Amino acid sequence: MNQESAFDNALAQLASITDIVSIDPEYYEILKSPRRQVIVSLPLKLASGLAVTFTGYRVQHNNARGPYKGGIRYHPSVSLDEVKALSMWMTWKTAIIDVPFGGAKGGVAVDPFRLSNDDLERLTRKYLTTIERDIGPEIDIPAPDLNTNPQTMAWIMNEYSRMHGHNVPACVTGKPVEIGGSEGRVAATGRGVAICVREAVKKYLRKEMKDVTVAVQGFGNVGSNTVEALMECGAKVTAISDVAGGARTKNPRAYFESFASLQNSVQKLGSVSKISDADQISNEELLESEVDVLVPAALENQITEKNARKIRARMIVEAANGPTTPFADKLLEKNGITLIPDILANSGGVLVSYFEWVQNFSRDHWAEETVNARLEQKMVHAFHEVISLSEEIGVDQRRAALVLAVRRVVAAMKLSGWH
Ligand code: NAD
Repeated sequence: MNQESAFDNALAQLASITDIVSIDPEYYEILKSPRRQVIVSLPLKLASGLAVTFTGYRVQHNNARGPYKGGIRYHPSVSLDEVKALSMWMTWKTAIIDVPFGGAKGGVAVDPFRLSNDDLERLTRKYLTTIERDIGPEIDIPAPDLNTNPQTMAWIMNEYSRMHGHNVPACVTGKPVEIGGSEGRVAATGRGVAICVREAVKKYLRKEMKDVTVAVQGFGNVGSNTVEALMECGAKVTAISDVAGGARTKNPRAYFESFASLQNSVQKLGSVSKISDADQISNEELLESEVDVLVPAALENQITEKNARKIRARMIVEAANGPTTPFADKLLEKNGITLIPDILANSGGVLVSYFEWVQNFSRDHWAEETVNARLEQKMVHAFHEVISLSEEIGVDQRRAALVLAVRRVVAAMKLSGWH
């Protein structure tokens, strides 16, 4: 992965709006650093007999608008720098989609694919018991992120509930539906991304979805659900990828026609890159695909000064967190490429996490249609708020989204008297 500091990038983004919105220096100082950074050692004896000590993190950036909220990531490159950046982006995201949460993030530096399921469960439970005092339904509510899933959240809920002596479903979101998860949560981030693609295509490309070609990097939770939702809207997905590489339809006019058969092949073959009847491509080639819309849905720092000039898409909709560096942002803008930023585009996940949290507190269970209808309404509203602001103050969509978020967070801090 690109070694650029994600937190430096997050700070540069924040600095980029100081000439547009006047942030009182004392509040700017607060926003520059997370309020709390927890680093824990997680010694674990693996089933193989090997003893390994993993490092875990939970960083809480800001809780002026509500309890801290953010996912947990398992990846070998997880670091304090990365988790700090992700926690700051969560603060902006919850403010833009306008849910009463702050921003946090957690992670463990581990390659989960090298651990057995039992080892992963024990690691998750150990991580939870070690950070238990820092989280809770009214304090900080974790959720899935890269390489974590509803099963991971089920272990977290069970361990937290065990320590508290009663069932506490609202301590975590993204749980399986059977134990208090929300209908529609698994697909929510991808559905929200597809809604942003649809709205942005209407606004900036003035095309119908059936005439739009898309390339998606990453075929995990967010990537695959984005592909499915885009296909439902009639968009033509022509290239996809995962960590092992990518696949592009052989004929430039062809597109992947059935999501179900795509998913079946990926499940059977183990990787997108092995799909037959498609050209094998690298992730670099995927990013440079000649399509209307490029959706990075894997990791941060994918579009950098090294490849930004080679991007041929007319529009980028960021499903991953932090896939574009600030330097690349400038190059893309210069080349007339419209960018819908992560803090808006992937906020559908935290939005439905909020719905899940509300359902848990009220011991309710909403139908999937209810969840999806509310997701649609809130995403469209947030999208148009950001776009209107970008037109009103004459800045790109990333800075407009940030201005909207910072205004809301600073207003909450001031009203609560943080100084
Ligand atoms: P995931 O673990 O389900 O999937 C990740 C995908 O990225 C996999 O297909 C994997 O093979 C691929 N990948 C990993 N390394 C890669 C590399 N070097 N090059 C290309 N592809 C690579 O994770 P996810 O939950 O889909 O998260 C993806 C991104 O979306 C992350 O940036 C995450 O922070 C962000 N995000 C996730 C959610 C959520 O609800 N899960 C919400 C908002 C944002």
